[in-house]
Amino acid sequence: MDNATIVTQGEKYVMKTYGRYPFALVEGTGTKVVDADGNEYLDFVGGLAVNSLGHCHPKVVEAIRQQASKLIHCSNLYWIEPQVELAKLLVENSDLDKVFFCNSGAEANEAAIKLARKYAKEYRSPESYEIITMRRSFHGRTMATLTATGQKKFHQGFAPLPMGFKYVPFNDLSSLRAAVGSKTCAVMMEPVQGEGGVYEASKDYLKAVRDLCNEEGLLLIFDEVQCGLGRTGSLFAYQYYEVEPDILTLAKALAGGVPVGAMLAREQVAKAFVPGDHASTFGGNPLAMAAGVAAFKTILEEGLVEKVQSLGGYLYQELEKLAGEFKQLKEIRGRGFLLGIEVDGPADAIVAACQKRGLLINSLHGHVLRLLPPLTVSKDEIDQALKVLKDALQEVLG
Ligand SMILES: *Cc1c(COP(=O)(O)O)cnc(C)c1O
Repeated sequence: MDNATIVTQGEKYVMKTYGRYPFALVEGTGTKVVDADGNEYLDFVGGLAVNSLGHCHPKVVEAIRQQASKLIHCSNLYWIEPQVELAKLLVENSDLDKVFFCNSGAEANEAAIKLARKYAKEYRSPESYEIITMRRSFHGRTMATLTATGQKKFHQGFAPLPMGFKYVPFNDLSSLRAAVGSKTCAVMMEPVQGEGGVYEASKDYLKAVRDLCNEEGLLLIFDEVQCGLGRTGSLFAYQYYEVEPDILTLAKALAGGVPVGAMLAREQVAKAFVPGDHASTFGGNPLAMAAGVAAFKTILEEGLVEKVQSLGGYLYQELEKLAGEFKQLKEIRGRGFLLGIEVDGPADAIVAACQKRGLLINSLHGHVLRLLPPLTVSKDEIDQALKVLKDALQEVLG
């Protein structure tokens, strides 16, 4: 099928929950993707932070191939070898002790919310259930996680929402302090907000949040579904801040493109879950776990975290230069390969102008351009992308 046919049939049969561009991506290698009409693009959307190893990384493809011919699925009634392997890798490379696997970021956050409530009821007070989250945050689309998401537009039309969530402005310690009460059980946040427009927590703020949680006996949950796994230039975003969470959620890039989610916790917290408290039929299945082991090892073995630090710094500098040339570019935000450009102008038109020239980027809320290149991107590809972006800015902003 060509692009037009896929779009026509898609409009007819697929539920309209996405605003989509009128073409279909059909294959990819590394940073490059090809659409159904054969047009090539440099992919700086990267499956929205999923394709961190680029498309079809050979080590991930091989791991999937081998596992698919061995065992695709078995129940969590039995031990699953690659699940144990991935859990070991995550624990040995982080400051958390135990892992629960699921299939998406929302599910990982659901698991975190359940664990925080269960733990608090046992160890803080039976009336503790409220979770404080941040404005502009994004935690998922299930009922609890969309309620945890501190953006009204995601709540509209879905009332009644689950109880027990409260929102405070990001990077504002006194608001957080004022929001804590006897019902509070946890603070949940992204160290670097992604979907909300790419906003980083400040180091002092995050340290102070940790101190406040310690004083008040609250759990600190970091949602690193987007900013984790090397994307911001440290394996886990919290390591840059030197602030350890009690619960950490991961998903997106964890299995090199295969659906997966993970919720990690400190030993003491993890103990609040006992057999029967939480489960997932597909969570931690052999196929996703084998892909996860291959993807995680690849991040470590290929030195991708260090690479993000140097090339991410380069990309940031070059974007700053562009911002010097185009006054409508108000601010460059983010770190590593999670970068946002605040635009006083039609961000969607800039995205379209880039697409036309063979570069995929993403816009948020109509005024932020987000760049999420794979961690494997080359300097040459970054330079190509910058050139396209500059031409597109020239066309749209003049
Ligand atoms: C994408 C994202 C989620 C939701 O993940 P899904 O896999 O779409 O459920 C949650 N939190 C953050 C920070 C995200 O970026």
